[in-house]
Amino acid sequence: MSQRKLYIETYGCQMNVADSHLICGHLEGQGYVRTDTPEDADVILVNTCAVREHAEQRVWGRLSDLARYKQRNPEIVLGVVGCMAQHWRDKVWERAPYVDLVVGPDAYRRLPDLLQSVHHSQRAHDVRLDRGETYADLAPAYDGKVTAFVSIMRGCDQFCTFCIVPYVRGRERSVPAEAVLGRVRELVARGVKEVTFLGQTVNAYRHGETTFADLLRQANEIRGLERIRFTSPHPVYLTEEVIAAMAECEKVMPALHLPLQSASDAVLKRMNRQYTLAEYDRLVHQLRTAIPDLALTTDILVGFPGEREEDFQATYAYLEKTRYDAAFMFKYSPRPGTRAYKWGDPIPEEEKIRRLEAIIELQERVSAEINAQAVGSTVEVLVEGQAKRGPGWYGRSPQFKNVVFTAQRAVRPGELVRVKIADSTAHTLKGALAGGKEQ
Ligand code: SF4
Repeated sequence: MSQRKLYIETYGCQMNVADSHLICGHLEGQGYVRTDTPEDADVILVNTCAVREHAEQRVWGRLSDLARYKQRNPEIVLGVVGCMAQHWRDKVWERAPYVDLVVGPDAYRRLPDLLQSVHHSQRAHDVRLDRGETYADLAPAYDGKVTAFVSIMRGCDQFCTFCIVPYVRGRERSVPAEAVLGRVRELVARGVKEVTFLGQTVNAYRHGETTFADLLRQANEIRGLERIRFTSPHPVYLTEEVIAAMAECEKVMPALHLPLQSASDAVLKRMNRQYTLAEYDRLVHQLRTAIPDLALTTDILVGFPGEREEDFQATYAYLEKTRYDAAFMFKYSPRPGTRAYKWGDPIPEEEKIRRLEAIIELQERVSAEINAQAVGSTVEVLVEGQAKRGPGWYGRSPQFKNVVFTAQRAVRPGELVRVKIADSTAHTLKGALAGGKEQ
């Protein structure tokens, strides 16, 4: 069996992070060993994101950097995998002729064969979408952390007009519940305390009779598992059953990322989001009633074609009223291949930047105010490791807040501890260990 060294670099969302683990696990099963540097790799894979132009530009630049390893050693295989591979297909070679391998998100199973063919001849590519592929039988590599992603469904059927995902990741399909729960049990046996279920529209999960709410309830029964999270849900699939499961399952954490995109019904309609602001707002109300300590976060896209000043003001006002804990905020950039692409990019760049900066400033203030309310309280933290900057430890609260803290005794990753919060910023809570919790 060959012992070729594999280096993989990942761009984009958590689904891509999980896919990189899947690719590593699959190739390790075929005799590859993982390396953390491209210098000593035989195979260099770049797992890519096509959602925003900026991310693509970074990847094109990075590919030309990585090509220098091939100049030194032509035996090295350089591959583009993931959403950009699917989006650009064989056009990757027009931009980056030094690439050997182009593999889309539904063809990772064939990577060992494709790598073999590159080794023997020239280039290889597989960008077929496969409605049945869930990789349920392939074990992802485990990175030794106490938190882990578990992909429970793939693809998206929503076709938001700004989004390339349904074209590059194909239709929705769910991993069988037994495979999901089996994977969680394996992870728990290896020391994982928190799993995050992943899917592009994660709460669209359905396999046979098992709904997303059922899956949450079944995972909640797994001994040794402390916390369950999921991302990203779509508002149209957020049923009363899901909200009830979230409220009733003690391991499902009180944190939800619920993308809004815009608070203007006219814009939501053009985005094909399938809900009105009133429907979304009703969900927020139901969630906050059922789960009073819920932390709510969102995605906002400003400068979408046709967004008038009054549409933007509606979004601003809704953010101000709803007081999200945090938000991912972006300005629109057209993606070739999407439905909105044909509407161009009519809002001037300076105006898009003005709108974006206005909501960022608002959200920073609101996030800081919400976090400041935690000062003086004690929160439960799952310790993830040592703080990246400065002494102390790092972990997350149930509400998914970053918490850094000092401790007078040794703590270990995976431990649930109580931290007394003494200070805060818009993005972090800071404190000191207040005492452990029985596990
Ligand atoms: S729900 Fe919309 S934004 Fe999310 S992945 Fe699907 S098409 Fe893209």
